[in-house]
Amino acid sequence: MNPIKKLVQLQEIEEKKKKEKIFLEEIIKGTDIRLMIKNHQLFKKDCEKKQKDLIVEKKQLDKLEKELKKSEFNREENKERLYSGNIKDSKQLEKLMQKQEDLENEIEGLDTEILKQIDLVEIMEKNMKEEKDKEYSLGVKINKMLSKRNKDKEEKEKNINLLEKEKEVLENEISHENMLLYNEIKNRVNKPLAKLEENMCMGCHMDLPIITVQKIRAKEIVMCSNCGRILYNEEI
Ligand SMILES: [Zn+2]
Repeated sequence: MNPIKKLVQLQEIEEKKKKEKIFLEEIIKGTDIRLMIKNHQLFKKDCEKKQKDLIVEKKQLDKLEKELKKSEFNREENKERLYSGNIKDSKQLEKLMQKQEDLENEIEGLDTEILKQIDLVEIMEKNMKEEKDKEYSLGVKINKMLSKRNKDKEEKEKNINLLEKEKEVLENEISHENMLLYNEIKNRVNKPLAKLEENMCMGCHMDLPIITVQKIRAKEIVMCSNCGRILYNEEI
């Protein structure tokens, strides 16, 4: 293998490693998961609040049902008095009849209120169930993301290690002189090698003199006179 080809391979490995490292950093940062966990916590709080509201409304329903029972009991008691045959005068009769009417109205009002309250509790329970289902799904999703995150992290670390080993092997095959040149250019520009395309350096897009192009074809180590990168063509 000619020396330039090895340098091109080295650059490819380093580029791959760079990309894998960026991916790994993103995974470690975990911005998306953090955001989701935050949302999940807010959602949970919201569910807890709704649960408390539901308890309040259920207690109210309970209270109304107790009131109804009490009124029904009073109505029966009043009725007994009405038909007991112990009524002294028309004034007392009228008083009892009025009380009976009031109690009937009270019971009717309570029945309506209870029905409304039952509807309210039912709607709230339905909403609560939906919210809890959503909260649960979100939790499952987060767990899946977390386990995928660990797998991805391991995979990236493995890839980086493999690339690092590949790089070491390759560096040992490259002459000390070429390694020095490569690293010296790398200190100035991000990619030390540039491809030649249509007599142009693809690193800086400068047209190259024919003598340089010929040297590249002869697989000599030639640098771009403009950006200083080592040039290569696809024939390597
Ligand atoms: Zn150039």
